[in-house]
Amino acid sequence: TAAVGGRVTECKLVLLGDSNVGKSSLVLRFVKNQFSIEQGTTVGAAFLQQVVPLGDSEDKIQFGIWDTAGSERYKALAPMYYRGAEAAIVVYDITSFESFEGAKRWVGELKTHGQPQVVIAFVANKCDLEDYRVVSSQEGKAYAQEQEMAYFETSAKTAHNVWQMFVDLAQLVPRKD
Ligand code: GDP
Repeated sequence: TAAVGGRVTECKLVLLGDSNVGKSSLVLRFVKNQFSIEQGTTVGAAFLQQVVPLGDSEDKIQFGIWDTAGSERYKALAPMYYRGAEAAIVVYDITSFESFEGAKRWVGELKTHGQPQVVIAFVANKCDLEDYRVVSSQEGKAYAQEQEMAYFETSAKTAHNVWQMFVDLAQLVPRKD
């Protein structure tokens, strides 16, 4: 049915990455356009939703986003968390090489145990901290390309590229009829 305002496709989205890379902050920026300097930012709910337009039509994607609920700290819980996710955002912090290595492990885990067709965005966050950068754009981009993932540089703090990243990811999600 061609409802007024277009069709809305629901999509389960998860954020993966080491602790402290800014996963909750990216969600908070995307859903509420807010930022908090506090660590372990709680978004107030375990589940949040946000609708984004698809460029080529009136259709939209409604992301249903599950908070990690600490699953990055309790790795055994992670599969429960990303089960059935059609889209994933794997995040690292450009000031932490360890988190970049961690992000690569998350990609590997997702590709072996996640949904076969999961769409992945590889996200270099905290790009406002350019002076403290230890992972170059080139390194991040090269790895993303090799793994056939979209690559983004974001800052949840300044909001740089956050909305755009979610919108671009939405375009990559297969649409159901
Ligand atoms: P999570 O554990 O991956 O969910 O990370 P959080 O969202 O809790 O963020 C961890 C810390 O990094 C918090 O103190 C945030 O305020 C901070 N943070 C998150 N994103 C950014 C960013 O883009 N830039 C800067 N400078 N700090 C950030």
